[in-house]
Amino acid sequence: MSISFEEARRRILDAVRPLPPETIPLLDAVGRAIAEPLIATRDMPRFDNSAMDGYAVRAEDCRPGTVLKVTGYIPAGGRAEPPLEPGCAVRIMTGAPLPPGADAVVPFEETDEGSVRVLLRGQARTRDHIRFRGEDIAVGQLVMDAGTALRPPEISLLASFGQARVSVHGRPRVAILSTGDELVELGQPLSDETIVNSNSWSLAAAVKEIGAEPVMLGIARDNLASLREKLSAGLACDALITSAGVSAGDRDLVREVLAELGVEQLFWKIDIKPGRPTAFGMKGAVPVFSLPGNPVSSMITFEEFARPALLKMMGHRQVLKPLIKATLKQPVRKRPGRTHFLRVTVYAENGELVVASSGDQNTGILLTMLRANAIAILPAEPGHLDAGDEVRIHLLDQVTDLDKDQR
Ligand code: AMP
Ligand code: MG
Repeated sequence: MSISFEEARRRILDAVRPLPPETIPLLDAVGRAIAEPLIATRDMPRFDNSAMDGYAVRAEDCRPGTVLKVTGYIPAGGRAEPPLEPGCAVRIMTGAPLPPGADAVVPFEETDEGSVRVLLRGQARTRDHIRFRGEDIAVGQLVMDAGTALRPPEISLLASFGQARVSVHGRPRVAILSTGDELVELGQPLSDETIVNSNSWSLAAAVKEIGAEPVMLGIARDNLASLREKLSAGLACDALITSAGVSAGDRDLVREVLAELGVEQLFWKIDIKPGRPTAFGMKGAVPVFSLPGNPVSSMITFEEFARPALLKMMGHRQVLKPLIKATLKQPVRKRPGRTHFLRVTVYAENGELVVASSGDQNTGILLTMLRANAIAILPAEPGHLDAGDEVRIHLLDQVTDLDKDQR
């Protein structure tokens, strides 16, 4: 019995668990998910400092036309000494610690830049041009939840807290197995009846793109012995993805052999198009995705089901891409009762996001996949959408700004 798109995704995401954490060098952690919440171990900034090149002053001394005696100079990295006496100013550079007694900074531009005495042109107010200790982040504050993906800003913060190493969830080793008697490995001679195993490569590329590690198992033939050997090897990895051999054909033996090897099937067949014959099961903690063989179907089912599951195994909090509202450019006829994944081109037109089909939606047409920069998710009902209807999309790539590109 087939299940809905939403139910299939729920069963998959409920079944998988994050891998144990490991501690790795900071820069190796880019793109990974931090394993523990990060609590600030320091104030940021750590000391009151100047936000401008100028003079540290006492605001109460400063009126337009005031002349102050310059009693010192503090560069960035310099010491905040000596204390600032009334009627005096200290030259101070951006990032330098504020001397005791000072409560404002007057930028050079608002002075005559004198080095013995300085003439102020304007009024200074308490707190002007000072970055106060802890104004960005206060010690003890929660700055990152566990599962946050580490991008340059997060790496910056970890570096500021002195963390040369960071605890992140493990990267799954993902076994990739293509099945079929018609397949030939890349680089091997082709005959009229055979096709190159391209699925292993597209799936491995997709696994790599999210930072997991593909393990290429090659091709299993459509017989029990070959499938037994290759599928058992795959079950030794953290996750297993197969392509083809899950339709109703008499040589579609993948599910049978998986069951024999102890994989508990959680579903087979989803009310989606493309990708209906997709199956999913678990052996212990190892998820097994049995994707259809058609290259477009295997890529789309990876995107919709395997990708979020692998991200969850990698400890990410955010595993689903945001769904964005966009307007359909043309009518679409679809099969009622099935969620359709429409390959679309999304672009900005008069400041609005608009989607058009990227071409022939037949699953045999790969070029439409190349041209698509997004997938529109058309809910199971209704069976027809009109031009101007609102749809939900998620991005595969950048959005073109047609308004700009046409200029
Ligand atoms: P199947 O799911 O076995 O019925 O295969 C569906 C279609 O996908 C057939 O046209 C296969 O030749 C094709 N196909 C299956 N596996 C691969 C693969 N690894 N690379 C490229 N095409 C494939
Ligand atoms: Mg086949």
